[in-house]
Amino acid sequence: MKVNAKRIEKDIEEINKFNSTPGQGISRATFTQEYMGAIGYIFKELEKIGAEIKIMRGGNIRARLEGTVKDAPSVMIGSHIDSVFQGGKFDGVVGTVTSLEVIRTISENKVFHKNPIDFVIFVEEDGSRFSSVLLGSRIWTGKVKEEEISKIIDKEGISYREAMTESGLIPEDNSILEGRKIKAMIEPHIEQSLVLESQGLSIGIVETIAGIKQLEVTIEGVSNHAGATPMNLRNDALCGVAEIILNAEMIASQNRTSVATVGLVEVTPGKTNIIPGKVRFTLDIRDKDDVTLNEISDKILKSIEVSCKNRGLSDTIKLASYTKPVLLSKKIVEIIENSAKNQGIDTLRMISGAVHDSSVIAELTDVGMIFVPSRGGRSHCPEEYTPLKDIEIAANILLESVIELSK
Ligand SMILES: [Zn+2]
Repeated sequence: MKVNAKRIEKDIEEINKFNSTPGQGISRATFTQEYMGAIGYIFKELEKIGAEIKIMRGGNIRARLEGTVKDAPSVMIGSHIDSVFQGGKFDGVVGTVTSLEVIRTISENKVFHKNPIDFVIFVEEDGSRFSSVLLGSRIWTGKVKEEEISKIIDKEGISYREAMTESGLIPEDNSILEGRKIKAMIEPHIEQSLVLESQGLSIGIVETIAGIKQLEVTIEGVSNHAGATPMNLRNDALCGVAEIILNAEMIASQNRTSVATVGLVEVTPGKTNIIPGKVRFTLDIRDKDDVTLNEISDKILKSIEVSCKNRGLSDTIKLASYTKPVLLSKKIVEIIENSAKNQGIDTLRMISGAVHDSSVIAELTDVGMIFVPSRGGRSHCPEEYTPLKDIEIAANILLESVIELSK
């Protein structure tokens, strides 16, 4: 028994027809017309196999194939369909279409399974509308409380609840997702990096999802005339930040698994003829190991202090977010690995540098992730691409793993 690659190809095409920026990448923000168009297509496919569709807490979607043992914990598969502004066709979509094809194949072939099999679509994984990543899984698992949900608004001031109600995704089951209800979860996803492609592999198996520390740093110096102030009498905040950024690069490079990125820099006053008096920037530090993550971040903080001292600058540092690394299930890694081996596919155990809904669910139950290559390592951009052949292989491995877990 194998999945049908032609159907997967069609699903990818159909879902990506729902796009608010045609010709300029894919944009599909949560609860918008485009989002609901894609959901509508998926619902039609699910209705064909008679899956029981239910809108869950926070507008997350669950389509269930009931197993022979009523009320047994479910085997969960799926991903998300929201997309960052002008992103690509594959982030989230790969996990969605492979999971959809797997439940279609199981249903059509009347495969015996004791446990229910749940195909899920998590809301707002990519922060596409409410700028809050993993929002759907965090609401469903009760990590975001009712009163906090009430405060979530998009750029236009429309609240999460209002947008959800407007879309028609009104929860029929508002209960919090508990670990005892899920036996295991597997999420296929694009790698969003170059490792698989560079090694000529189709499949990666995630062992750990990296931890992330995000800092907001403000460096203050003295604004002054760019012409009248001699070089030795300056306290140029931007020169200090330039040094800090290069130090962060050097510190993170000393460790094979660490990464550090300054993605946003705001210079004040930001004028051609004025020495920058104030610079605000973000620092994103990641590692698979919590101790190393904190060591790297401490070293970078120390270097900020030294640079500021040497240059007569002051610093204010705020911790914006901190997510510990998540260890995925060894048992699921082995099940995925065996399924791949049975199909003659070489795999690589790897770290995910990006977070996923799987990180949230991993706190509740055994979770695994199957990675497929991203061409050129590109993601969150129109160039995002994964060959259909690799997606098909991932779907077949998912199929065998799900059958193993639910039998
Ligand atoms: Zn994603």
